[in-house]
Amino acid sequence: MEGSTFLQAISLSKTYLGVINSGVKNINLTIQKGKITAIIGESGSGKSTLIKLLYGLLSPDDGKVYFENERVWGPEIKLIPGHDSMKMVTQNNDDLNLFAKVWENVAALLPSNNLMAKNEKTETILKQLKMYHLAQKKVVELSGGEKQRLAIARALITNPKVLLLDEPFNQVDTSFREGLQEDIRDIVKQTGLTVIMVSHNPSEVLSMADELLVLKDGQIIEFGRPKALYHNPSNLYTAQLLTNANSLNKIEAENCGIKTKKDLLLIYPEWIKISRSKTNKDWQIKQVLFKGCYEDLLIEKNGLVLRLLNEKFEKYVEGDKISIKIKKSIGF
Ligand code: ADP
Ligand code: MG
Repeated sequence: MEGSTFLQAISLSKTYLGVINSGVKNINLTIQKGKITAIIGESGSGKSTLIKLLYGLLSPDDGKVYFENERVWGPEIKLIPGHDSMKMVTQNNDDLNLFAKVWENVAALLPSNNLMAKNEKTETILKQLKMYHLAQKKVVELSGGEKQRLAIARALITNPKVLLLDEPFNQVDTSFREGLQEDIRDIVKQTGLTVIMVSHNPSEVLSMADELLVLKDGQIIEFGRPKALYHNPSNLYTAQLLTNANSLNKIEAENCGIKTKKDLLLIYPEWIKISRSKTNKDWQIKQVLFKGCYEDLLIEKNGLVLRLLNEKFEKYVEGDKISIKIKKSIGF
């Protein structure tokens, strides 16, 4: 369908009855087919409301959602809420049959008129989600992360065109989460699936998303590629969602040798370079924080503390005098 729009929201607004400043306001948005779009924003910014409106689980007060040029209707019009070509996975997988096996939980969603096709499809999806070895286990015996994988397998078994994920990885350990993120990216590449995910985990959205949408107080304040938003955020809010940057007021900026007219400067940890050069050793290492494949250094000068990223392990120890160069900063 070259030239036509895949999934689109036009002037979408929804306020929860009797609660001012709830829900979302005037959302205009185009979701690209075959891409992963991530919605980020602080708690209460409207992420879940927006994803439910796109799916048709909620009806907007104003505005429309179109999927492949047809209206997506909410629960007031549609008896079984949720668009038939989309599937949503959230944190609560309450539709899993806990006492049935993994295999049955997936296969049960397919028609029984062609048993061979049913078995093949179930096997394929379990393999794709690296769950085939768990096929004969009961759901009660699975870990939280495995249950999340199963929920995604169930969502994908009926070949939806869009998979909506509302913070489904929150309760999952980091190592497990990363594996699942890679598998979802693989499935997107192999099948052309479109994914819309809500997350407030910066590393998750930066590595997974093709497009990022930033919500604040129910409105979209920024939209773009993760790299662009990370390196050049237009809003302090976006930067603070995506980074653990140093924020400096004017006086603190001057203390670092930067003159600015802006009220606030952000300096990312990786933009600060340190050395032991003989002159200007006016900063001191306060703490060395081991982070696995790098160190965070907390350095101090006249009471101002900055965080920087150091890849040269054990080169610096607490108390060392050093000088710094700030390569970049962003003003707001
Ligand atoms: P997020 O998912 O980003 O945390 P939500 O979409 O759940 O945000 O909520 C957006 C705003 O709408 C919040 O202020 C929230 O309190 C309010 N809200 C969400 N659901 C309801 C509801 N069912 N009734 C009243 N207010 C709600
Ligand atoms: Mg939410």
